[in-house]
Amino acid sequence: MKATIGKEEKAVFAEYIRRNQLKRSEQREVILDAFLRSEQHLSVDDLLHIVQKKRPDIGRTTVYRTLKLLREAGLASQLDVQGQARFEHDYNREHHDHFICNNCGEIIEFSSPEIEQLQDDIAARLNFKIQGHRHQIYGLCEKCIARAAAAEATRR
Ligand SMILES: [Zn+2]
Ligand SMILES: [Zn+2]
Repeated sequence: MKATIGKEEKAVFAEYIRRNQLKRSEQREVILDAFLRSEQHLSVDDLLHIVQKKRPDIGRTTVYRTLKLLREAGLASQLDVQGQARFEHDYNREHHDHFICNNCGEIIEFSSPEIEQLQDDIAARLNFKIQGHRHQIYGLCEKCIARAAAAEATRR
């Protein structure tokens, strides 16, 4: 195990805790570490599952509250996938958007300078000041399309 993982993020979180006069919590640090080691878009239960492999004493509420703090500290951002909140790293990350498979829940990241430029142009035209945006595009991933086609073929 690399002890250096997320060193900067951990410092940012420690600073956030200090600034907001919260108590340091060892459980929170375990949760933060597990979050930083994952590169997935995690639901509360996904993260709970990872954490509980080593620390069955840590409960869902603590994981949920910690994710909320990570969001406020600018370390995590949230997206909603089929009504379920998912969390991903946000610290020093380039902006990106998501394709989401309606069948298997696969999340594919993309970024497009053209789309970003286009929405800036439209906002300027409407005198709108953009403060943030999220594109979530729903459909079927490559695997699910192939699986559906294969199922269709055997039916014939
Ligand atoms: Zn899929
Ligand atoms: Zn993402």
